[in-house]
Amino acid sequence: MTSPHRYAIRPLDPAAHLFEVRLTVADPDPAGQVFAMPAWIPGSYMIRDYARHVVEARAESDGRDVAVTKLDKSRWQAAPTDRELTLVLHIYAHDDSVRGAHLDLTHAFFNGTCVFPAVAGQEETPCDVEMQPPDGNVGRHWRVATAMRRKDAEQYGFGTYVAADYAELIDHPVEIGELTIGEFEAGGVPHAIAIRGNTRVDMARLCHDLQTICEQHMSLLGTPSDLDRYLFLLNAPGSGYGGLEHRWSSANICARDNLPARGDEGVSEEYRTFLGLVSHEYFHLWNVKRMKPAAFSPYDLGQEAYTSLLWVFEGVTSYYDDLALVRSGLIGSDSYLELLGRTITRVLRGGGRRRQSVAESSFDAWTKFYRQDANAANSIVSYYAKGSLIALSLDLKLRQETEGRVSLDDVMKAAWERWGETREGMPEDGFEKLCGEISGLDIADFLEAAVRGTGELPLETLLKTHGVDFHLRRSTGAKDKGGKSAANGNLPDVWLGADLADQQGKTVFNVVHNNGPAERAGIAPGDELVALDGLRVNLAGTEARTRRYKPGDKSAVTVFRGDELITLQLKWEEAPSDTCYLQLAEDVDEDVLARRRAWLGA
Ligand SMILES: [Zn+2]
Repeated sequence: MTSPHRYAIRPLDPAAHLFEVRLTVADPDPAGQVFAMPAWIPGSYMIRDYARHVVEARAESDGRDVAVTKLDKSRWQAAPTDRELTLVLHIYAHDDSVRGAHLDLTHAFFNGTCVFPAVAGQEETPCDVEMQPPDGNVGRHWRVATAMRRKDAEQYGFGTYVAADYAELIDHPVEIGELTIGEFEAGGVPHAIAIRGNTRVDMARLCHDLQTICEQHMSLLGTPSDLDRYLFLLNAPGSGYGGLEHRWSSANICARDNLPARGDEGVSEEYRTFLGLVSHEYFHLWNVKRMKPAAFSPYDLGQEAYTSLLWVFEGVTSYYDDLALVRSGLIGSDSYLELLGRTITRVLRGGGRRRQSVAESSFDAWTKFYRQDANAANSIVSYYAKGSLIALSLDLKLRQETEGRVSLDDVMKAAWERWGETREGMPEDGFEKLCGEISGLDIADFLEAAVRGTGELPLETLLKTHGVDFHLRRSTGAKDKGGKSAANGNLPDVWLGADLADQQGKTVFNVVHNNGPAERAGIAPGDELVALDGLRVNLAGTEARTRRYKPGDKSAVTVFRGDELITLQLKWEEAPSDTCYLQLAEDVDEDVLARRRAWLGA
């Protein structure tokens, strides 16, 4: 039997944000053991080169130092030894995102990708992980929250944990600190949420709502055979948002006041955002963590792993995250349609949807979607947002053309059976072929246009067949995310063709849309708006003054570009109707009503 690799991690110097990681290998490669840190973390498709945070690397064997040579940006090689070998790393941890590692006097958080090197050639070997507390008084009340299986550790305690192999080791984020923990069961499986931050949350309600979401998703795809536990890690600072999926847990960030206080009733917009986030990460435990593209089976963490399927794994997940909220009754259908209207608005406001398909966006995620520049709105389409609208169109089309016999639910069930429980990677053409197979429809042209085309999706027609009216209008300004009709009807006739943002008191051109008035006038992204026709303006003032212009009017726009003051001549143009809202159609016939109920739930 192979001896497990023995990892030990301790907060070496919390004030200096330094972890010490010791990795002991029983049978190192006699030619000189190679160790490798991942270049990226699964779920976040960007090269991050985690080894760059290693500030010290050394090795020892039998009480003696062993030479360590750096081979490239991510790998080290120890000198040959036939004895047990220990690699010792000091790692700087000051990235408080769900993808990083963070340590200070208040807590520790880490992903295995940031702190645990792989033993090259022995990635299948089981791993023991000893979580050690910091020295001294720091951390006296700290608890450990992770979905990693315990060996000798008490529940939520320091001590030894185990992982079946390296892939599992780095699939368990760990939060250590003063935690608020809630526990519940979903589908008979123990679940927990561990919250960092002073939230004063209504924990009973939170657990109830999480259980509702988890069971909704379980009812669609069934409980995976190896899902015997699940943990939501939640960091709740003053502001922030994000999540990262894992097989038995997820790491999430939301603003603390988005969570419900005791006595709160109803679902606020902020709480709805939080519920959508955890619903999204939970759905991933099927879609991308167990069922994945062939390109991720297994992950090559040394370099980019290219797939055109992220629209399936992120887009379909983004479709089901909010759909689960309405189907389970946590939100009403009006609230759901508002969310859909906002997603449609997001896609319509980016000219990039006419340049890039979701298949291309998936493939180039590494250098485009994850590394957006000022031109992103003109050049990139989100495989999340448009991917979710493709999922919606596909679902409605299947339902309508098969007279309710087949829906996207059936395609996902079949996909899970084929590539989920079997752990066989989904081939690049697998999902689209399956849609045809399961429905018996000739749906290839529709998918070709939706997935590899840059035209508009037939949303208006498809929503109509499900009793939902599709409306477009002009935007009321920077705060208008769509999803609702314009209450006062006071819409501007014209637009600048640019998105302004308030940046530390300055009004800055964030996005300059291609072929819009601002671009024609010579305004560049990053320009600071100072005056409009000689009058000083801020963001709100610009929006108020915009209502005084008509198409064809001309204005002098004064901006700072760097430290140079420039005045440019702008000709106002009619504002586009790029803001969508949806409404339940009234007086629809029984067929349509039945279709709508089957889609959204009762
Ligand atoms: Zn996701």
